[in-house]
Amino acid sequence: MSVAPVVGLDRETLDFTLEAIREFAARHLPDERLLELDHLDECPVDTVRLMCGEELGIQLVFVPEEYGGMGASAFDVYRVCEAMAGIDLGVATSVLATFLGTDPITVGATEEQKARWLGEVAEDGALYAYGATEPEAGSDLGSLRTKATPIMDGEVVTGYRITGRKQWISNGGVADGYTILANAPGGPTWFVVKRGAEGFTQASPEDKHGIRLSNTAALVLEDVEVGADALVGEVEGQGLWQAQQVFGYTRLNVATFGLGAGWAALDRAITYSTTRIQAGGPLSEKQGYTHKLIVPHAVRLEASRAYIEETAERIDAGEGSLNTEGAIAKYLATESANAAADASIQAMGGYGYTREYLVEKIKRDVRITTIYEGTSEIMEMTIGRDRWQQHLKTQGAYYRDAALALERLHASAPEVGADVAALGLHALGGLLEWARVGRLTRNQHILFRLGELIAYAEPAASFARRAARAAAGTLSDKAERGFDAEGLATLSRVFAREAAERVATEGMRLVVGAGGADPAHLPQLAQALRVSEIQGAQVGLIPDMDAAVAAVYRRAEHGHHA
Ligand SMILES: Cc1cc2nc3c(=O)[nH]c(=O)nc-3n(C[C@H](O)[C@H](O)[C@H](O)COP(=O)(O)OP(=O)(O)OC[C@H]3O[C@@H](n4cnc5c(N)ncnc54)[C@H](O)[C@@H]3O)c2cc1C
Repeated sequence: MSVAPVVGLDRETLDFTLEAIREFAARHLPDERLLELDHLDECPVDTVRLMCGEELGIQLVFVPEEYGGMGASAFDVYRVCEAMAGIDLGVATSVLATFLGTDPITVGATEEQKARWLGEVAEDGALYAYGATEPEAGSDLGSLRTKATPIMDGEVVTGYRITGRKQWISNGGVADGYTILANAPGGPTWFVVKRGAEGFTQASPEDKHGIRLSNTAALVLEDVEVGADALVGEVEGQGLWQAQQVFGYTRLNVATFGLGAGWAALDRAITYSTTRIQAGGPLSEKQGYTHKLIVPHAVRLEASRAYIEETAERIDAGEGSLNTEGAIAKYLATESANAAADASIQAMGGYGYTREYLVEKIKRDVRITTIYEGTSEIMEMTIGRDRWQQHLKTQGAYYRDAALALERLHASAPEVGADVAALGLHALGGLLEWARVGRLTRNQHILFRLGELIAYAEPAASFARRAARAAAGTLSDKAERGFDAEGLATLSRVFAREAAERVATEGMRLVVGAGGADPAHLPQLAQALRVSEIQGAQVGLIPDMDAAVAAVYRRAEHGHHA
């Protein structure tokens, strides 16, 4: 695979920015303060403003250069979001909410509007909020009820009167500007509404399970008047399209949130396990512990990273918004992070269950990542639908070609698990074909489960490619380097086995369960799903997991820990 052209920040600026974030956190957000704010259920607005203002200037990372920002790439934003999430997901959410809020502007506003609104963010550190969700319109945004009624002067629209209610809005109670999705006569449309506008009120913050350092509030708009120039892009009816344009990117950001928070929890468990002595030795030396509570989670998080990095590079190379890839990244990273944080509590036993050790807080925080910016089930639907179409359109070539490319990679890089990742993709192609013949996706459950299996099989391919690039020395110079090439290859082999096994085993269950194969046809189905090859590929799993332990603890020794 070719290396993407260098866009965005240079390596030194990125490193400097990541270091500045860590220093800022050490000064303003030490663990004791995070715990206190979590306990008080309080958003540290002043700290968020310092971050998005002169002291840190993190907002500049998200604003394009022509409007006063640093013009960072998707890859840079991934590194920055991961770092912020590793500190506190609530604060990270507060920072990111401004950029979700200004995304409709970045995508759809006129040049003059961009200069005005993005300029406010870059220069004044204005905080924004993204107002899409409503009490009755969550996953299904099309059913939104907020209404924008034109104010007419003769034939000319001079402004709009907006009425409605928004629900669960990050920064809802603290933002300076709000992008509000409302139904205008021409269809769903984004408007910029400023705090303090008459008729615009913010409810008190929600009492949440996690991300308690992030302000989440409902918004009420009662005949709020805005000028015609508050309409983003000045053309009605572009709202859902504009929201769609950035889904790939914003979902990738939430995926990086999962990555940062998942590793923050796991790192604490890893460190703990090296000093906690039970039954005569540290927990880190007990296979029953590491191979259940540490390794599978490190493996899935790093598979997510491989997929995130590849998707960010492709976005930066101009391949479009990559919505399906964003969904795959979000699904795997956030589900893996949630499981990793849960395992981290278990790995720290009674200490993990108390507040003081922070993994309990991280677990509550990271839970949101499988819900906001589209739930995991909506991701499954998005992924399942898109790849189903690809399979039909290409008559099965979609995964066959991808598998063949991996087989070629295996020939040149035999250590990275590309052969097993290829088996997973062949099995996926076989599974989709049996689903087509049996018309099984009439069951919503089958389509959604296919989405999940795809979100394992495709990242397995990315992971093999990333490990091969690490070995060849062709990773982006801005890539994260927690694991060396040998460690990545080991983790990739473990993940490829898991992904392929899921497709084969789950695939059999789904096809048979949905009536797609009677008992007489099980051998053919098993062949299409490569069941025996995939089972055979499990040879070497336990030694690889042993080696993965060594790689994970080597990484921790080198300072990649919380
Ligand atoms: C802390 C927090 C911060 C947020 N910040 C923002 C923000 O800044 N701006 C904003 O606009 N929104 C925000 N949201 C809203 C968030 O994006 C929504 O909560 C989310 O999209 C889900 O919508 P919902 O809550 O209405 O759930 P619903 O859509 O009602 O979903 C409930 C359940 O049903 C499932 N489901 C939904 N549709 C289907 C279907 N067709 N088939 C099968 N299953 C389905 C879902 O996966 C979920 O499990 C935030 C939410 C929270 C909790």
